[in-house]
Amino acid sequence: MSNRVVEGRMVTPERLAELVEGERPLEAEPIEDADHSCPECDENVISVGYMPSVTEFVTAYKCQECSWSDTDR
Ligand SMILES: [Zn+2]
Repeated sequence: MSNRVVEGRMVTPERLAELVEGERPLEAEPIEDADHSCPECDENVISVGYMPSVTEFVTAYKCQECSWSDTDR
């Protein structure tokens, strides 16, 4: 299981990618811990790699406690 709690809700990798991207990805890899903390609230940041389209691979970063998110685009 790579489901994690984000802003108080359990999310799957696909749902986490959707939260950051705004659309459901074609595929998503297991959620991992990022190696930095949130710039807004200093809480834990998790990351997920996903494919928003067949030609693109993006890594998204999301704080587990607040609404902060970013991608490596
Ligand atoms: Zn935060």
